[in-house]
Amino acid sequence: MDSFRFPEGFRLGVSSAATQIDGGAENSNWYDWYKKGKIKDNSNPSVATRHRELMAEDTAIMASLGIRDYRFGLEWARIEPEEGKFSEAEFEAVRRELELLKENGIRPLLTIHHFSNPMWFEERNGWLLPESKEIFLRLVKKTVEELGDLCCEYVTINEPNVYANNGFAAGLFPPGHTSIPEALKVMDNMVAAHRAAYKLIHELRPDARVGFAVHLRAFTPRNNFNPWHRICAKISERIFQSKLVKSMLFEKNERFADFIGVNYYTRTASSGLKDGVMPDCPKNDLGWEIFPEGIALCAAKVNRLAPDLPIYITENGTADAEDSFRCRYIAEHLKAVVRSGLPITRYYHWCFVDNWEWCEGFTAKFGLVAFNPETFERTVKKSGRFYKAAIEEKGISKEIIEVFVRPERYKR
Ligand code: BGC
Repeated sequence: MDSFRFPEGFRLGVSSAATQIDGGAENSNWYDWYKKGKIKDNSNPSVATRHRELMAEDTAIMASLGIRDYRFGLEWARIEPEEGKFSEAEFEAVRRELELLKENGIRPLLTIHHFSNPMWFEERNGWLLPESKEIFLRLVKKTVEELGDLCCEYVTINEPNVYANNGFAAGLFPPGHTSIPEALKVMDNMVAAHRAAYKLIHELRPDARVGFAVHLRAFTPRNNFNPWHRICAKISERIFQSKLVKSMLFEKNERFADFIGVNYYTRTASSGLKDGVMPDCPKNDLGWEIFPEGIALCAAKVNRLAPDLPIYITENGTADAEDSFRCRYIAEHLKAVVRSGLPITRYYHWCFVDNWEWCEGFTAKFGLVAFNPETFERTVKKSGRFYKAAIEEKGISKEIIEVFVRPERYKR
């Protein structure tokens, strides 16, 4: 790999979600999912990484690595534990975090919905409810009223496509349904909720910057000479992502985003309508193909829809328990981003401290920082030191390549 520099103003941050780090929400659909025995290692999110208690320590580590951008999220179950009743104490805690970030010169990007619902909402049928939009807007309004003086950048909803597909078609996430029509309904309701939230946030805070984060995969025919594989790749891409991105962005002539958030991890090699990987490809601990060019291919597709909008990579990272290929993974994805020449202005790495990976529990390690499961003490990994160096040098220098990237190899 050759060295390269980031474009002027390019920002490197880290990304997280409340349920995966904070701890303390036992009235959510994800705690319920744990009670139903659906988590690989039978762990639950009620402790997670204890970030809520350790937020000062975590913020200090972030600052010491030179990180100045942080995407984090709300835990709806704690914010609105009973329908229509908001917790002032919870908003206070989020305010403390926003203040802490400010003191450390770290800019927040706040996700309002990231896979997690309070049980009262889930029990009423959640995102299948026709009035889910109104219920979400009540949360959005309160959030901006309470936090708007400290936070002006928002991701309304994280990955409606993963949420809808995993929860309502594939049965992997709560509520565990297996109905394609339901998954499509959930996506429609989330699109409507996002568009209305975009407008509402701007009414409440005209200078806010609002977008959404969508999970994009590089869909490729497993065998390019096989017409069936080519058709499957096209259909999957359309159902899973391209139609959704268009609907999140526009309705008639109106636009509903100030930036596009792209979460990119892997490529899907299609030979049917299920996920597949290319034969003999480099893979991470979860068997996901490592395909760095995909980040630029996906970003180019959304850029064609709205060429004037900035793109933020709101998530990119990999499960690598031994921290033996993460530096190479990040360097190669950043290189694809920079070489693409697209208006990608930020990159938020997923994630900061190893976290509670939904159905994978604590078995998948995506972090730049590890924690001791007994004491919760944090240790910066080699990849964390690499990230610090990349931020300091504003690029991937020859020295960074020699020290961190060249010695690393992907697994197959
Ligand atoms: C989600 C994250 C998750 C990551 C890695 C994304 O789809 O937004 O919450 O941890 O993938 O699995």
